[in-house]
Amino acid sequence: MTAFLDQLRQIVGAAYVLTEGDLVAWEQDWRRRSRGKALAVVRPADTAQVAAVVKACAQAKVAIVPQGGNTGLSVGSTPDGSGTQIVLSLTRLNQVRHIDKDNLSFTVEAGCILQSLQETAEREGLLFPLSLAAEGSCTIGGNLGTNAGGTQVVRYGNTRELCLGLEVVTPQGEVWDGLKGLRKDNTGYDLRDLFIGSEGTLGIITAATMKLFPQPAAQLTAWAAVPSMEAAVRLLGMAHQHLGAGLTGFEVMGQFALSLVVRHMPQLRVPFTGQEDAPYCVLLENSDSESEVHARERFEHLLELAFEDGCVLDAVVAESLAQAHELWHIRESIPLAQAEEGLNIKHDISIAASRIPAFVAHTDALLQREIAGVRLVNFGHLGDGNLHYNVQAPAEGDPKAFLRDQEERVNHLVYEAVAEFGGSFSAEHGVGALKVDKLEKYQSPVALQMMRAVKKALDPQGLMNPGVMLAKG
Ligand SMILES: Cc1cc2nc3c(=O)[nH]c(=O)nc-3n(C[C@H](O)[C@H](O)[C@H](O)COP(=O)(O)OP(=O)(O)OC[C@H]3O[C@@H](n4cnc5c(N)ncnc54)[C@H](O)[C@@H]3O)c2cc1C
Repeated sequence: MTAFLDQLRQIVGAAYVLTEGDLVAWEQDWRRRSRGKALAVVRPADTAQVAAVVKACAQAKVAIVPQGGNTGLSVGSTPDGSGTQIVLSLTRLNQVRHIDKDNLSFTVEAGCILQSLQETAEREGLLFPLSLAAEGSCTIGGNLGTNAGGTQVVRYGNTRELCLGLEVVTPQGEVWDGLKGLRKDNTGYDLRDLFIGSEGTLGIITAATMKLFPQPAAQLTAWAAVPSMEAAVRLLGMAHQHLGAGLTGFEVMGQFALSLVVRHMPQLRVPFTGQEDAPYCVLLENSDSESEVHARERFEHLLELAFEDGCVLDAVVAESLAQAHELWHIRESIPLAQAEEGLNIKHDISIAASRIPAFVAHTDALLQREIAGVRLVNFGHLGDGNLHYNVQAPAEGDPKAFLRDQEERVNHLVYEAVAEFGGSFSAEHGVGALKVDKLEKYQSPVALQMMRAVKKALDPQGLMNPGVMLAKG
């Protein structure tokens, strides 16, 4: 291996092949559920270096784990414990190559931090709408690798819908340049869509051309207390009807999830907590291309109708951008508050919005009946039918023992219910190494067969993120 590591040092420079010292930032996943051991962490500076590293790995038969910001929640970006895989960190590929205002697009390198891309777009008077709580550290390459969702999907779609083209280094070390930035291109299989959401198992995304949008003239945010999940879904229907394409965000949060924010982030003022007739709160956002007055009128009209209907009990509309940010900050603090509270079992599920109330009623009752003391942290992107239906260890007792003894069972109960309601066990976090067995169990055999065939055709040596998404071998 010494000769191989020397070869990597020649390609990227000795300072960018890390083999010693504290590598925890690259070897451990964000949730600290898994720590592997890397043969080396390799940090190329550009596409040519990525291609040369991949070629060297293909010759030496060394497996590669692509990594961006390492904020993924399915253990897909960290090495296994064998000490034989390299982590290929893309964070030095961080240039915005080109902004095309007339085409409403920009071409950016994979390691660009999402928040910096939002800021770049804003400086041009444009909007890059992908937004999620990890935006200060996740990269666009990781967003594409996982087809990330986030808080604006209801209007702008997932990362896939925001992407016009990719540059990819194949497992053989060749470079595919698909960065034409075309909105229409029906010339054969859509390779871009194959790589998006492939979690580093088919190749390495080194750059992407992404869509930009006009900045909305106004953005209004409201926080509403609702009497049930049924009411929240009814409000969603009304918001679609009355705000149309102006509806840019629709989040739901259970009161227990919010109580964790109150407990662990006392500096945040969370509206309508402890209101017993309101088990859920909803955060809605309305963007308007005309004016703030127009946006406010439409928003207030919607809320009036919702009060009359009874699907909203109480509501506040942010009076300033700062207040709107505060409301979003509360929503985005739930995962951190949950982590502060201690160990928990996460589920990132999607179900048709119309079936969510029945699913929640069924599964809440099931878990409460089957598992003593269980605490449900339910929140998510209701506008996309996506819930983070999480289970916190009971307040009393040892959370580690709870996870050891109950995680399998909790997962079984939740995922069986998801299947029964026609949903997906992974809405936006991907499969990673964490849910390989779930893909085997819940994906159709025909779909699995096609996925294995694609993997074998593109990566016959099985060196691209082995053990992620599909089982090794
Ligand atoms: C607080 C918090 C909130 C979150 N909220 C959301 C949310 O609302 N919606 C959502 O979808 N996700 C969310 N996530 C999950 C995570 O942020 C996203 O999955 C994000 O897209 C991962 O980006 P990353 O750069 O950190 O990728 P990493 O974690 O480094 O990698 C993720 C996967 O992509 C692969 N990959 C990374 N870079 C490349 C590349 N250049 N080419 C090919 N494959 C690559 C990796 O091998 C791995 O399989 C959240 C995470 C946290 C910690």
